[in-house]
Amino acid sequence: MVRKVDHIGIAVKDLDETLKFYEDVLGIKCVSTEVVEEQKVKVAFLPIGDTEVELLESTEEDGPISKFIEKRGEGIQHIAYRVDDIEKAIKELKEKGIRLIDEKPRYGAGGARIAFLHPKSTFGVLIELCER
Ligand code: ZN
Repeated sequence: MVRKVDHIGIAVKDLDETLKFYEDVLGIKCVSTEVVEEQKVKVAFLPIGDTEVELLESTEEDGPISKFIEKRGEGIQHIAYRVDDIEKAIKELKEKGIRLIDEKPRYGAGGARIAFLHPKSTFGVLIELCER
């Protein structure tokens, strides 16, 4: 079902400050940024090898990234796995009794189609399925 790690989503308080670390210290360059209104988040894309780091800064106090940072602090928020056919993957997971946050694919940053699985069904990790 899963092809590879598409990206790792990291929740940060200050995108510009965080980018200094990634770009100047680690040498991983940001290729673009995007605001995803629906998720109240500004995303920076940093490709590395055949995967990507996605830095996520909340654009609103009540956004999911704000809430995440409030509860757990900055850090890895989700891991995204690439799938070829997201509808098929969702259907298979439902049949296997996996709890889903999204039963239908929604728009994801970078024009991907994404769906989240509930961490209660995934041993504590917020998993995103990602079709490109
Ligand atoms: Zn993601």
